[in-house]
Amino acid sequence: MSRFLSGRHKSLVPYTPGEQPTQRQYIKLNTNESPFPPSEKAVLFASEAARKLELYPDPTCGALHAAFAGRCGVEPHEVLMTNGSDEILYFAFLAFCDDRHPAAFADITYGFYSVFADLLHVPYTLIPLRDDFSIDPEDYVGLGKTIFLANPNAPTGLALSPDAVERIVRGNPNNVVVVDEAYVDFGAESAVGLIHKYDNLLVTQTFSKSRSMAGARLGCGIGCKDLIADLNTIKYSINPYNINRMTMAAGLGVLADEEYTRQNCRAVAETRTMTTEALRQLGFSVLDSKANFVFAKAGWIGGKDLYLKLKDRGVLIRHFETPRLKDYNRITIGSREQMRALLLAIEAIREELK
Ligand code: PMP
Repeated sequence: MSRFLSGRHKSLVPYTPGEQPTQRQYIKLNTNESPFPPSEKAVLFASEAARKLELYPDPTCGALHAAFAGRCGVEPHEVLMTNGSDEILYFAFLAFCDDRHPAAFADITYGFYSVFADLLHVPYTLIPLRDDFSIDPEDYVGLGKTIFLANPNAPTGLALSPDAVERIVRGNPNNVVVVDEAYVDFGAESAVGLIHKYDNLLVTQTFSKSRSMAGARLGCGIGCKDLIADLNTIKYSINPYNINRMTMAAGLGVLADEEYTRQNCRAVAETRTMTTEALRQLGFSVLDSKANFVFAKAGWIGGKDLYLKLKDRGVLIRHFETPRLKDYNRITIGSREQMRALLLAIEAIREELK
């Protein structure tokens, strides 16, 4: 820390991204990336856009907003594209949270919510998950706070029913409810259809997972016109050119290739079923995930030990050190071949310990 850092940030603990190793080739099952390459159209459109890099990109993101809104069945002014969904979440904290509108979210959920709250000095309440890691919607009714709800949740992969999400949105009419749907395309139901019914609902989504574009950084918020206008005020006060030309073009490309996205989501869901069953046969308890990862605990080895032993064998998974999570690991659903390699490595570790 330099002697110049603002006193406001001296105790800030930043978000720790999953490992992105450069020294060794791993089977990477630690950051919930897609095992499939980006759509050919995304690559083609992005490379054409690279020829115009001397010009700023369109700050209104007009073509992309129109294309994405069309896919979601909403109007372009009900959408705001951002630099990854992390950015729309940050904008939401800036726009809708302060001392009078503290934040609330689950005690076990996406780690960035508490980092944004700390960065912005927004007070927040952690709402404990039930013992089985599920969310009780009644805990979120009438809170008088801005609510952040990951659905499916991370790192558990558990999803709330559309009725439960609506109960929470309806139960907080004077506060914004942000439903973070980063993983929704892998089997949960989206709340986007509710944005015309509730003016306090903001849904966030990402192109990082189901659309194989984590490296391009593209996310979005979907909500009523006034919420999106507020978020635009924030965007134009920070970085009007938040989406670069190539990412914008890649977004248009992948949206023109929806069958490719659907096919990849189906493949991930099938591989998730196969992996869940195989892990259960190997003595794991595995939560019923609706995401592109599973959250699993072995009866015969600790979470950290398994993580380290798999890393030795060239397979990276995600381990969390916190007390309630330390026996578990979060394992991204990769390709069939990657998951077979993971299962063989786990079998070998189990044999070694016998
Ligand atoms: N929400 C959740 C629940 C996530 O797990 C992630 C991925 N780390 C994000 C949002 C942000 O993803 P991105 O910025 O790549 O869109």
